[in-house]
Amino acid sequence: MANYQHILIAADFSEYNDVVMLRAKELAERNQAKLSICHIIEDFPIADFAYEPMISIDMDMREALQKSGKQQLSALAKTQDIPDDNQWLELGSPGYDIVRLANENNIDLIIVGSHGRHGIKLLLGSTANTVLHHAKCDVLAVRLPEK
Ligand code: AMP
Repeated sequence: MANYQHILIAADFSEYNDVVMLRAKELAERNQAKLSICHIIEDFPIADFAYEPMISIDMDMREALQKSGKQQLSALAKTQDIPDDNQWLELGSPGYDIVRLANENNIDLIIVGSHGRHGIKLLLGSTANTVLHHAKCDVLAVRLPEK
């Protein structure tokens, strides 16, 4: 098995984050790897009924989301002693931005949950699926219990 050096946890702040964190911790210890964690705040465009004009989420909402995201990410990172520099909060498209962060930071393993807040039904269109198909490194999807 490959000896991983830098593992990225993709955290969606769902109720199953602990399971994913625990698996990441085990793997990091076994490989003596560095751990980083990321959360992507989905920057969804808001369209009016006629689909125009497209408006991105406004500045106040963006700041509030970033502040709350930072707090949640930091609390989660603390449970595994992940330092500030390895906690990445971004605004964008979860699947693609997780892959971009992995490429930019020489990540050799991305860990995601098999499903998240959207549930098991959407597995095919999910973040885990996007990461799996676009990542240049290994991806581990931790099997999570169904609700
Ligand atoms: P989902 O696409 O919601 O079924 O989530 C599958 C997995 O992708 C989750 O268990 C997380 O590991 C990861 N994930 C989903 N959304 C995000 C997000 N916004 N930021 C970081 N990771 C995410």
